[in-house]
Amino acid sequence: MGRLYIVSAPSGAGKSSLLTALIDQVQDVKISVSTTTRASRPGEINGKHYNFVTIEQFESMIQQDEFYEHAKVFGNYYGTSKSWVAEQLESGVDVILEIDWQGAQQMREVTKDIITIFIVPPSIEALHNRLVGRGQDSDEIIEKRMSEARSEISHYDEYDYVVINDEFDHAVNQIKSIFASNRLTLETQQRTNKALLEALL
Ligand code: 5GP
Repeated sequence: MGRLYIVSAPSGAGKSSLLTALIDQVQDVKISVSTTTRASRPGEINGKHYNFVTIEQFESMIQQDEFYEHAKVFGNYYGTSKSWVAEQLESGVDVILEIDWQGAQQMREVTKDIITIFIVPPSIEALHNRLVGRGQDSDEIIEKRMSEARSEISHYDEYDYVVINDEFDHAVNQIKSIFASNRLTLETQQRTNKALLEALL
């Protein structure tokens, strides 16, 4: 059995780039592709970044009990579908859910066997600079993004681990070390190295 991880962050904290680097460097871990009703952004691929569906399709998936968790984030639905995640965990792969604090709260109700990580930017200024982006957005939109980011950050203390994304490679190494140490816990070792541990006795 693989382990389930949740990684949350305000937008602008660099979560996606960190996780892309992580899965290149750590074996047997995959990121769950969420389902959403939001419009795809330029460069986003259906089935890779998200499964893009209509509101009607999403609501029918809720009715069919296809989600572990789902939430409305800034006006759009997002959800984690059960079947793919369960399949990966059963095949021994660790799965990362890149979801918001509402999804994290729901997942803690589904299972206690979950490791949660919150990524924060190194400062409010750094976050602001990331959200200003290419300078094409109005002050009002940037302010809205800042207040959404602060509202996500206000939940940081509900998580097991907090990673500060100051220097990219350093933050990637910190996340790698969370995976490494969780793969060495007694429970995980007893499960993954059962035969060896028994043979030693
Ligand atoms: P974005 O639209 O910028 O990709 O994501 C917006 C927010 O939705 C992020 O905080 C992201 O973590 C969250 N999110 C993405 N997928 C899911 C999901 O399946 N469930 C929940 N609860 N949140 C999600």
